[in-house]
Amino acid sequence: MGIVSEPTGISDVAPGRLDADTLNANFTDLHPPLSTHEARVEAERCYFCFDAPCQSACPTSIDIPLFIRQIAAGNPLGSAKTILQSNILGGICARVCPTETLCEQACVREAAEGKPVRIGQLQRFAVDAQMAVGQPFARAAATGKRVAIVGAGPAGLACAHALSLAGHDVTIFEKREKSGGLNEFGIAAYKTTDNFAAREVAFVLSIGGIEVEHGKALGRDIALTSLRRDFNAVFLAAGLPGTNKLGLPGEDRLANVVDAVEFIAELRQTADKSQLPIGRRVLVIGGGMTAIDAAVQSKLLGAEIVNLAYRRGVDAMKASRYERELAQTHGVIIRPWARPLALEGHAGAVSGVLFEHTKMVGGQLVGLGDAFRIEANVVFTAIGQTGVADIFGDDGPDLKDGRIVVDAERRSSLPGVWAGGDAIVGGLDLTVSAVEDGKQAARSINAALAG
Ligand SMILES: Cc1cc2nc3c(=O)[nH]c(=O)nc-3n(C[C@H](O)[C@H](O)[C@H](O)COP(=O)(O)OP(=O)(O)OC[C@H]3O[C@@H](n4cnc5c(N)ncnc54)[C@H](O)[C@@H]3O)c2cc1C
Ligand code: SF4
Repeated sequence: MGIVSEPTGISDVAPGRLDADTLNANFTDLHPPLSTHEARVEAERCYFCFDAPCQSACPTSIDIPLFIRQIAAGNPLGSAKTILQSNILGGICARVCPTETLCEQACVREAAEGKPVRIGQLQRFAVDAQMAVGQPFARAAATGKRVAIVGAGPAGLACAHALSLAGHDVTIFEKREKSGGLNEFGIAAYKTTDNFAAREVAFVLSIGGIEVEHGKALGRDIALTSLRRDFNAVFLAAGLPGTNKLGLPGEDRLANVVDAVEFIAELRQTADKSQLPIGRRVLVIGGGMTAIDAAVQSKLLGAEIVNLAYRRGVDAMKASRYERELAQTHGVIIRPWARPLALEGHAGAVSGVLFEHTKMVGGQLVGLGDAFRIEANVVFTAIGQTGVADIFGDDGPDLKDGRIVVDAERRSSLPGVWAGGDAIVGGLDLTVSAVEDGKQAARSINAALAG
């Protein structure tokens, strides 16, 4: 259930807290793109390290020193090809990767002077130049093999592109009416502006040989057994279907206790942000990227007070230090060591949450038995996503904690069935790792089909 305006009859929850110009300004690019001159200057900062640590830190192993050297040499399209060979979704990854914990953290300039080469920004510069021109790759001769992919998110798209490149015909079955997965419905609006996710989907599909059937869900409209029968291979990339609940009384009954992922999806899809109701006082419960994105975007929509409560210390938060600082610079108050005890309501809508303080004792999180209250007109829950079990029925692959068990080649326990992205055990739950899964699975599928 989404946010309901003024359930208590007062304007504590309302749309249009900010005027259209302010909203537009608030949701522009978090980091504006580099100009050609800025990109050349930034590229010159790179030492082009041998055995570059930045490359080892990239989940898709992009040859970072090479692509930066190509930018420095005035060859952005060559640079883009270097990037896209390793990561066909290099455009979105340049925008959303937590570079501060990946390549840029590993950059020798970070260790030496605390100012890494801006690898993400340079990657965006090169890939944007290529996307303005079109697809740089061409398909191999048709093999006559057909592969089914479930899910048109980053894992599915990356796998589809690599398989199409190898000459196979790909059909993607996608539950929603739009492709892109969480790139389209999850990533914060200020990280991917100008309809970038949809433009990138079109760029990926422009290779040809990939058909997307929208509105087709595995477990509802199609079954794994028929995909295994009708196709030479199957790649499962359906992400994670649901989100965890707080498990507190009133969660489903009180208005304006809202799943943060749903709020963000609505925000991403709405044409007019001034129509979106938001609370005067917002409380987000959780400690990952989703929690930070919900909190920051609430502020950008005009919420006056935004608290983010997390049951452990800040160092245990999945959100990086950079993201925490981003939240704080937007005025979000982070309240660690706070565990929710009860939801409070007034006239059918949430009015606050009762918490207790916590601390770690002998490796265990324990409550201190005290109680304090945080007032809120809207509460966003962002405490993780749930597994995939119920889309397979009895014929599914081996699962652990609701995620698919795979080997290093992303093969599941079922012959002819591979899996990747958020749906598998042991992933990083990042866009870039989903792309890497798709790429690795495509390599393995290709080898199996050739063999
Ligand atoms: C709110 C939010 C913000 C995030 N922000 C970032 C970020 O800033 N940076 C970052 O690196 N990562 C971020 N992530 C994580 C990142 O988005 C995911 O790790 C990534 O999208 C996983 O890709 P995927 O292809 O496995 O799954 P998804 O992107 O979830 O795509 C799965 C696709 O499968 C479809 N599908 C689902 N079920 C079925 C079915 N039964 N049949 C057919 N199709 C189905 C879905 O509709 C979807 O299109 C964020 C996640 C969330 C929730
Ligand atoms: S570690 Fe830094 S300086 Fe070295 S190659 Fe990578 S980006 Fe360049």
